[in-house]
Amino acid sequence: MSANRVDVPFELRHKCWFCGEPSYDDVEISHQDIEAITYDATSLQIPACEECEQILRSYKGKSVSESHRFVKNALIHNYSKHLAIGSKWTEQELIDSKFTGAAFEGFGRSAWAMYEIAKERIAFKSWQLCVDEMPIEQPSLVQDTFEYEGIQFASLSNAIDHYSKIFELSNPYLRKAVDLVGREKFSFALRYCRLYPGATDDERAEYLYDLKYTIDDEKALSEQNLD
Ligand SMILES: [Zn+2]
Repeated sequence: MSANRVDVPFELRHKCWFCGEPSYDDVEISHQDIEAITYDATSLQIPACEECEQILRSYKGKSVSESHRFVKNALIHNYSKHLAIGSKWTEQELIDSKFTGAAFEGFGRSAWAMYEIAKERIAFKSWQLCVDEMPIEQPSLVQDTFEYEGIQFASLSNAIDHYSKIFELSNPYLRKAVDLVGREKFSFALRYCRLYPGATDDERAEYLYDLKYTIDDEKALSEQNLD
């Protein structure tokens, strides 16, 4: 049986289903990996760009949702330096920084553009998969996702890995700080950990203790106010 190519909306023709870059080749998801409730036919061909196709070569035998998640994670990993630009600078700061010298001028001009391209690819919303206009219902594409600075991470843990890497922070330190303050205060935990980037293990333990103390204090205060 030959594979079915998924429908591609007219305005998205020639685009990669995973990241929105120009498509290069189709990736094939075999029949037993499709996991769909509403589709019971042959394998699927999905358009992909060269890089996404390459990423998936080492990830055979997985469902569409797993493949999608894997690609987005790999892109965050591959472009962590570009994404770091947007975390560390604003566009105006880059313009104002007046990098001089050929190498640095190039950096100033292209850095923001590189950041935006990486961010758009990661944020690209894959269209609904259909074959001959019949939708293929997938189990939810992503679970337990975490969004920060407009970047959709597959999980909170992936976000911690990414930010500890780009800000050169101890990964367990940031993880513990996020645990203490809660995922909704991720931004606070990140800023807190960045206060003393060169801290030793002992100092970090002390800062975490202070953080816990402050949170307990705040909790006690708000409970008092409720009484
Ligand atoms: Zn792609």
